[in-house]
Amino acid sequence: MMSESKIPEGNKEIRCIVCPTGCLVHVENVNGELVIEGHSCNRGEEYAREEFIAPKRILTTTIRVENGFLPLIPVRSDTPIPKEKLQETLKEIAVTEVKAPIKMGDILIKNVIGLDANIIASRDLIEA
Ligand code: SF4
Repeated sequence: MMSESKIPEGNKEIRCIVCPTGCLVHVENVNGELVIEGHSCNRGEEYAREEFIAPKRILTTTIRVENGFLPLIPVRSDTPIPKEKLQETLKEIAVTEVKAPIKMGDILIKNVIGLDANIIASRDLIEA
């Protein structure tokens, strides 16, 4: 879900990470129109547009486990999260405690802070 609503002012050099070529893409707001240059393909153009308008990141962190073989389990979001929501998401994760046993890929927090993203386990964890 991406809103095209507001185009930020200014310009940015964005390194495309969609493929290993790593093109450097220039994105600029020229009188409300996005000018994108330097990409070699459409996927790169789309990546640079999103990164300029509404950057998102896969979040990786850990969650406390009440009765686990280890006290923490590594987790990640199953879809990229808007950058401005990362702090709020981390706070929610910090106050969460889950129970072992856990399987890699288990959803530990569904629709975290009302986003269209789940926090999932990055590994298995057995009980203590
Ligand atoms: S613009 Fe296209 S070719 Fe260049 S890094 Fe991105 S995906 Fe790869």
